[in-house]
Amino acid sequence: MTVVTRFAPSPTGTLHIGGARTALYCWLYARKTHGKFILRIEDTDTERSTQASTAAILDAMTWLGLHYDEGPYYQMDRLARYRAVIEQLLATGHAYRCYCSKERLDEMRTAQMAAKKKPRYDGRCRAGGVPTGVDPTAPHVIRFANPQSGEVVFEDLVRGQLVFANQELDDLVLIRTDGIPTYNFGVVIDDWDMGITHVVRGDDHINNTPRQINILRALGASPPHYAHVSMILGKDGKRLSKRHGAVGVMQFREEGYLPEALLNCLVRLGWSHGDQEIFSITEMIQHFEIAHLQRAPAAFNAEKLDWLNQHYMKQGDRAKVAAELAWHFERVGIEVKNGPALVDIIDAQAERCKTLVEMVQKSGYFYTDTVTYAAAAVKKNLTADVLPHLAHLRAALAALPQWEKSAIHAVIEQVATTADVKMGKVAQPLRVAVTGDTVSPPIDVTLVLLGKARTLARLDAVLHPDFLEKNHNC
Ligand code: GLU
Repeated sequence: MTVVTRFAPSPTGTLHIGGARTALYCWLYARKTHGKFILRIEDTDTERSTQASTAAILDAMTWLGLHYDEGPYYQMDRLARYRAVIEQLLATGHAYRCYCSKERLDEMRTAQMAAKKKPRYDGRCRAGGVPTGVDPTAPHVIRFANPQSGEVVFEDLVRGQLVFANQELDDLVLIRTDGIPTYNFGVVIDDWDMGITHVVRGDDHINNTPRQINILRALGASPPHYAHVSMILGKDGKRLSKRHGAVGVMQFREEGYLPEALLNCLVRLGWSHGDQEIFSITEMIQHFEIAHLQRAPAAFNAEKLDWLNQHYMKQGDRAKVAAELAWHFERVGIEVKNGPALVDIIDAQAERCKTLVEMVQKSGYFYTDTVTYAAAAVKKNLTADVLPHLAHLRAALAALPQWEKSAIHAVIEQVATTADVKMGKVAQPLRVAVTGDTVSPPIDVTLVLLGKARTLARLDAVLHPDFLEKNHNC
């Protein structure tokens, strides 16, 4: 049997991390088993679905690298197919037309609630035919004739055996008055037609599963395997929502996280392999087992994501990290063509940054012609007494035949020795002079990355008689 999984988002918003985790599990299982992963857009909620949401979901899937083997399929392209199946269900008595008005249904619901009963359709139209006085062409829905006795039993791959009494299940609407299928009907036909073998989805769908199984059985189809994954909670134990900060996948991108870090963080929310925390994509594929998904809800841990992000900035595929860093520089309008290679920036800065956004904030001076000076740093470090050291440095650096780390280091050391001051007394003013502030990679590394021309130009600017006057008063 070839495994076929699917991710079936409704395009009513961006891709959230809960959805992304479901997609990841489906994708991993398909990859692990050399099966197929399908993307299906469930766009039958025409009021809430938007093309912008579809585009946002597709972008997020691409950014995460969750490539699908088939799709995206769109349910709204398949209306004729749902029509054909409904005819079959009507013909076999598994579905019926329901002409009950909204008013009647509302009244019934109110009465049931008042009587403390579970609201459900009372089956008035189930016997078939058009109620007296009703025009047969009048708007109507098509309902499923759910079995009225017995149970639906299925083996959930995460939760074990689950049992639902048919009496608890309603005669649910399959096709609305506008001819569009409801979620439960569309999902069943698609899972069936697309040969889905494993449905992995959020446990908010658990109550839909027995209904879907009944529809499949009415069609003579065998149900797929189901795995309902637990929800993701915030640190406070409440369901993760915007209140907790970023929840959209692309928001994490904008905040400077790498896809590998987010995936690694997500895979561990509800799944484990011993006590391993760091998983390359290959390892995830290798070790992933549906049987190891946890029942208990998992809490999202932002600090862990930071930690993983730093790990992947330091150890991830440098070309990929650089491509992502380039995207961040571009977003803030910094041109990186005329400056150090991004991989070198990553090597120098990853140690002191948690996100790529932070890396950009701390690295702009490598690419710009002018430096923004932090007033406090200038005041403290670029005092009149250190200017002679800087002048000395400027001359010695200018004379260097090779612009490389050890030679630069030796020059700084020698200037300090000559002036009989500690190396920091030279290095720190130099740092402020060339970067504008007091924090940067080691000074020799900083100068190498900056290049000779920029370094000398910045020293010249600081040594200009106007500089101190201008910057000390700011
Ligand atoms: N469109 C449904 C959702 O976004 C999919 C549920 C399922 O996977 O069956 O919740």
